[in-house]
Amino acid sequence: MTFRRKSRKVRVGSIYIGGDAPITVQTMPTSKTTNIKETVDIIKRCEEAGVDIVRLGMPDIESARAIKEIKRHVNVPIVADIHFDYKIALEAIKSGADKIRLNPGNIKEKWKVEEVVRACKDNGIPIRIGVNAGSIDRSKYPSPTPETLVDSAFGHVKILEDLGFFDIVISVKHNDVITMIEAYRMIAKMCDYPLHLGVTEAGTEFKSTIKSAIGIGTLLAEGIGDTIRVSLTGDSVKEVEIGIAILQQFGYKPTYVDIVSCPMCARADVNIIELTNKFEQLTKNMKKKVKVAIMGCVVNGPGESMDADIGVSCGKSGSVVYKGGKLYKRINNDEIIDTLIEELEKV
Ligand code: SF4
Repeated sequence: MTFRRKSRKVRVGSIYIGGDAPITVQTMPTSKTTNIKETVDIIKRCEEAGVDIVRLGMPDIESARAIKEIKRHVNVPIVADIHFDYKIALEAIKSGADKIRLNPGNIKEKWKVEEVVRACKDNGIPIRIGVNAGSIDRSKYPSPTPETLVDSAFGHVKILEDLGFFDIVISVKHNDVITMIEAYRMIAKMCDYPLHLGVTEAGTEFKSTIKSAIGIGTLLAEGIGDTIRVSLTGDSVKEVEIGIAILQQFGYKPTYVDIVSCPMCARADVNIIELTNKFEQLTKNMKKKVKVAIMGCVVNGPGESMDADIGVSCGKSGSVVYKGGKLYKRINNDEIIDTLIEELEKV
C-alpha cells in the first residue's frame, strides 16, 4: 500500500498518529483500571502481542489516579477514556495520560472544557473525539446514520477548534459495517484530522473478526485510517492479534512466518489441518520474514511451494520440500514439521 489519505500528525507519548506515521493498533483492557495488577498484566500481554497504544476506561477519579502507577510498569502510550466528567480528564492528564478520549459537547459548561483544553495544550497531549452509535445524543440524532455520526463528530470538533485546539483524532464508529464505512468515507473527505477506525460493539471473536476485517479493511484499502481498534467481546490480546493481522494484509505491519496452506480435501494423504495448526503454534513468535507453503498434494502443491521461500508438497509415499523455488529434498511424511522448523532456523 502506498496511497494514504493525507492527515495531520499528532503525538501520543512516544509515537505518532497520522501523517506519515505507521498505522497503529490499539486495544482496551477488560479489567477495572483501579485493579492495577490485572491491568498491567493485560497491557504486558498486549505489548508482547505487539500493541501500539492502550486505552483505559475512566469511570471514576481513582481510575485516573491509577494511570501514574500503571505507566511505571508498561511501555506503550496510555489513553484515558473519559465521558462527561471534566475533573476525571484533568486528573488523568495530571497522572500522565498520553492522550484523552473525550467528547467536549458532553461537558455542558464551557469553562470546564476550556480547563481540559488548557491542560492538554500545556502537556502536549491530543484529544480523540469518539462518536459511537450507542452514545450519540438521541434527542438531537434519533437514528445514527453516517450523516448524523459525522455531524455529531464535527459538533465536538468545532468546540475544540474554537478554543484553538487542533491536536484532534476522530472516530465515528457504528456496529453496522456499511454505516461505519460510509461515515468514515464522509469524514475523511471533510477534514484532515487523523482517523481512528473501528467497528464498535462488533460481538464475539468470530463475528468481530469478520466485521472488523471488512469495515477496517475496506477503509484501509481506500487509504483511510491512521490507527485501528478491533473491538470484541473477549480477550484484549485477541483484539491486538486481529488488528495486526488486518494491517499485515496491507503491508502496514510486517508479516513474519506467513503460512500458505491448502484447505485439504480428499486428495490429501497427510492431515494438513493438524500439521498447519501445529506449525503455526510453533512459529507464532518467530520474527523471520518467510513464506512457508504447506500443501496437501501435487495438484497445487509444487506451484505454491515453489512460490514460497520454503514449501512442502505432501504425497502418499512421502513429501517433497522446495526451497527458494527449487526442489530441495524428499522426506518422509512424519518429518515434515521438523524439516520445516530446521529450515526456518537456517534463515
Ligand atoms: S492442494 Fe491438494 S489436498 Fe490441498 S486442497 Fe488442493 S487438491 Fe486438496
